[in-house]
Amino acid sequence: MKRREIMESIISIRNLNKSFGSKRVLKDINLEINKGEIIGYIGPNGAGKSTTVKIMLGLLEEYEGEIEIFGKNIKDDPVKYKKRIGYVPETADIYDNLTAREYLTFIGELYGMEYEEVDKKAEELMELFDIREVYDGRINSFSKGMKQKVIIISSLLNDPDILFLDEPLSGIDANSVMVIKEVLSELVKQGKTIFYSSHIMEVVEKLSDRIILLADGKIVADGSMEDLKSQLEGSLESIFNQLTGFNEHSKIAQGIVSTIKRGAVDEGL
Ligand code: ADP
Ligand code: MG
Repeated sequence: MKRREIMESIISIRNLNKSFGSKRVLKDINLEINKGEIIGYIGPNGAGKSTTVKIMLGLLEEYEGEIEIFGKNIKDDPVKYKKRIGYVPETADIYDNLTAREYLTFIGELYGMEYEEVDKKAEELMELFDIREVYDGRINSFSKGMKQKVIIISSLLNDPDILFLDEPLSGIDANSVMVIKEVLSELVKQGKTIFYSSHIMEVVEKLSDRIILLADGKIVADGSMEDLKSQLEGSLESIFNQLTGFNEHSKIAQGIVSTIKRGAVDEGL
């Protein structure tokens, strides 16, 4: 994708550090994200991706450093910017007793939308995501993929300017993944900004015009796929493996297999 001519910073993270107890999980994160970018925020489990997202969402308030979203420090006005963002959390296990209609209209009303308006919009989105038939079903009876679609719909109701997606496609069927990828590309064309966090590289590789690799709380690479590829051979997965040192799976597998054999009694049957 072509670099946009006018860069307008929409998220700015400066010297972000975060610890849980004595454990440092984010180490001097610095990031400028421009309007209209689709960022792939990639790294192995435990790297600190969800923590970064939760801090930007105002869900974790204790950290060092500064975060500006839409040009304002999020601590100065912790409410206003949230009206213009959408969030798909990594795990969401609230509201299980509600129906999709109850849940989505509730979320829409939190955003200040009229009941009728949000009800109609939510129903149409359910139809487009191919789950209209369960609009009045209880969410706790849904499959993982259906729940995930409801969460994605809830994140889009307010037509957000920035969308934060944390492992958004878990449990979603292959056809719907294709639809969602298309929707995300369309939204970016309209000038929306997407922050897509995942430990799975496959979708991000195709979708993102900028990949940020996080390992052990530090940014270890930041650039377009082309930038990264010109530095290193192979797919993003091998880039990722080189950068994170996680290139050891066959050795580990061999170790496991030889350990399984050891000491087992061979009765020579
Ligand atoms: P990722 O999303 O990249 O898998 P997380 O941001 O969830 O990583 O976690 C980063 C590190 O912080 C991990 O080591 C995790 O165990 C730790 N961590 C996350 N949340 C908490 C918490 N609430 N309390 C203590 N440690 C946490
Ligand atoms: Mg995570």
